[in-house]
Amino acid sequence: MDDFIQPLSEDFSDIFFIKGKNNARYPYSNSLLVGDHLIDTGISPNHLRKLKRTFPIKHVFLSHWHEDHISGNYLLKNVKFYCHSNDKLPIENVEKMIPLYNVRNTPIEDELKSLIKLLRMHNIKIDTTVEDNDIFDIGDQLKLKVLFTPGHTAGHCAFYELNSKIAFLGDIDLTRHPYYGNLDASLIEFEESIAKIKSLDLNIVVTGHRGIIEGKNQINEEIESYKSILQERDDRILAFFSERSRPIKLKEFKNNNIIYRKYSSFKDFEVIAELLMVEKHLEKFLSRGLISKKEDGYILS
Ligand SMILES: [Zn+2]
Repeated sequence: MDDFIQPLSEDFSDIFFIKGKNNARYPYSNSLLVGDHLIDTGISPNHLRKLKRTFPIKHVFLSHWHEDHISGNYLLKNVKFYCHSNDKLPIENVEKMIPLYNVRNTPIEDELKSLIKLLRMHNIKIDTTVEDNDIFDIGDQLKLKVLFTPGHTAGHCAFYELNSKIAFLGDIDLTRHPYYGNLDASLIEFEESIAKIKSLDLNIVVTGHRGIIEGKNQINEEIESYKSILQERDDRILAFFSERSRPIKLKEFKNNNIIYRKYSSFKDFEVIAELLMVEKHLEKFLSRGLISKKEDGYILS
């Protein structure tokens, strides 16, 4: 078997971790194969072609609309596609991603369009929308449960196999870079979704951009350290307020390395996404009464 295909359990031999190209770094991502059900299609075209030759794939669940998770859809014919209704539109019409990233009429709009072309992304039709707690029986042994976990996108879902206690967490990705930088994201929901994942009884998790994490303690530690990154971002934004005792406008946070401590070669995109993410923190602070609106900015309460 190709080395990017890895069985996850001796007792449940139909569950495989499918590692994305380049260690699942953007624009690739990992998948989970559960029987003839594949979750996400961003492993890379070559990997996907090889996978199809080894396993019959009949059903494809998409965790969310981001390009790095759905780019291989065009290679899967005669399958049924599933996603949450909130993410259906940009999956069925990939150009609709562009306004969601808030990049219309910026240089990034063209870059994103080129990427969509480069990845050869096609529109596909979603056959069935899924909802929280839907359970799909796969073979005699496996029950795959949908966990609606919005925040990263409005329709983001994780998937939990009830008997093996193996879960695919999508882009609650347990990396050092939690992301909620599109218009349909919500930090409040993202944190609720992390809490929902943490409450599960889990033996193994895989995520869109991290490999296999095994054992309850290890999984718990990883979730805690993921949450601490969000806490550090909260702290930096609150410090930004306390260092200036006057109303702060959202745009003042721009280009200040609040979320990205170092910008990469994708700086133009990161600066846009960062401001959106700061806005999600402000939305959370407002809802908790930590800050209030004053003049045309915000001030600590
Ligand atoms: Zn994503």
